[in-house]
Amino acid sequence: MQGGLHVGRIVVVGGGWAGCAAALAAARMGQESILIERTDDLLGCGLLGGIYRNFGRATAIMEAQAMGGGELFHAMDEAVRHVNPPIPKMENQNVYDILRIQGKVRSRLDGAGVQIRLRTRVVKAESRNGRVTAVYLEDGEKVEADVFVDATGSGGPEELCRKWGLGCVSCLLRCPTFGARVSVAGLLGIQEGVGRSGENYGAISAGSHLLKESLSPDLAGELESKGCMLVPIPASLKNQETDWAATKHYASDEFKQTLVIVDNGQVLVMLRPFIPIEQVRQIEGLENARFFDPLAGGVGNSVRFLSVVETGPDFKAPGFENLYCAGEKVGLLVGNTEAVLTGELAGNNAARTARGDEALMLPRTTVLGDGLAYAGELLRGPGGYGKRYSFGGGEVQTRMREKGMYQLDPEVIAARIKELGLAGTLAP
Ligand SMILES: Cc1cc2nc3c(=O)[nH]c(=O)nc-3n(C[C@H](O)[C@H](O)[C@H](O)COP(=O)(O)OP(=O)(O)OC[C@H]3O[C@@H](n4cnc5c(N)ncnc54)[C@H](O)[C@@H]3O)c2cc1C
Repeated sequence: MQGGLHVGRIVVVGGGWAGCAAALAAARMGQESILIERTDDLLGCGLLGGIYRNFGRATAIMEAQAMGGGELFHAMDEAVRHVNPPIPKMENQNVYDILRIQGKVRSRLDGAGVQIRLRTRVVKAESRNGRVTAVYLEDGEKVEADVFVDATGSGGPEELCRKWGLGCVSCLLRCPTFGARVSVAGLLGIQEGVGRSGENYGAISAGSHLLKESLSPDLAGELESKGCMLVPIPASLKNQETDWAATKHYASDEFKQTLVIVDNGQVLVMLRPFIPIEQVRQIEGLENARFFDPLAGGVGNSVRFLSVVETGPDFKAPGFENLYCAGEKVGLLVGNTEAVLTGELAGNNAARTARGDEALMLPRTTVLGDGLAYAGELLRGPGGYGKRYSFGGGEVQTRMREKGMYQLDPEVIAARIKELGLAGTLAP
């Protein structure tokens, strides 16, 4: 007991955005919080891309902050590289620096007392009477806890990239080095769904990275000042098939006829699963281009959305009273913003469960409550596994606009949350 409050132990498996947010939320709620990550980096796929706040993601972020949460979005703001760069088909987006973001997050986790265990992989889980009792690490160590959060993501492992993609392309998940992703839910026998892309399973990640130093100095300088550039491409590259891409709602001419590149500290090549490097090098300014992620980005990209759990609106996994899921693990939600929001809600609920309190379920009068519940309904509906869900586009975004809930004024959002009696709901 700490100040009369029960201190439980929360174990979060997976140190991507979702796991970091869950572990931070649990620690801020006064619980002992352990974060287990198989690689030697935090943030997983969050070390790529870096776009946040676009469209309804901004509303969702400000709503979480009006409820006293959303701390990790302040970390993104501290590492921001461009505010509102001219990315086609987007509005009000920010881009954080993928090389600086990890340090910003790490210092917040350390400050909150989260015990971070890197290069540590969960390979076995144990349960009794609908309660998870322990997870086991590769070296056989048993880690017990009151509540667990599965934030292991949906990418890879290697053999699934071979089966449903174009082979292992040395992406940042680095399965050959750190071992395959292992889903805690899967270990416990929970039925996991698989996303679809037409006839294929999963989705090939859209977006790869070039080393900025491999661009011509003129192109690199212009990109740094503008934040985003549309580089004309040779005819041989045009209309490249994008059907497999994880993000489909930008299937427009800008992305087919030009190379859309974004400065996120390196060079994000947007919404193309892969481009042969020899074709990239035909483009003026890119004659010396080298891929940075995936290393074999000219041949393919990672496969994601292969391991999805249908949770309830409280993010509890079916069949277990003390297991929550977060991030891409949950119902085909995609994005940094969505991973942080579901992670924070799952971590908050894990802490509440450890204390013996009711789990929090945000009402549908909120963008968060409605958007996340609606994404779950769409997933369970016809063709639901063929779509991806986010506050940044698609049906969740359309609904937000139709319901008049899309809002970019933080004061209006704060007033609405206060009126609903939810101010401080996510505060420790
Ligand atoms: C190339 C690319 C570009 C992107 N660009 C953007 C963008 O610009 N904006 C945006 O919003 N989204 C973007 N995304 C999507 C976004 O990055 C993801 O949706 C989000 O980061 C998912 O976070 P997560 O924590 O759920 O999963 P992940 O980031 O996959 O994290 C899961 C973590 O769990 C660990 N793990 C797995 N199994 C175990 C185990 N058994 N034991 C211990 N650890 C384990 C993994 O090592 C990993 O670190 C991009 C994705 C990619 C691949």
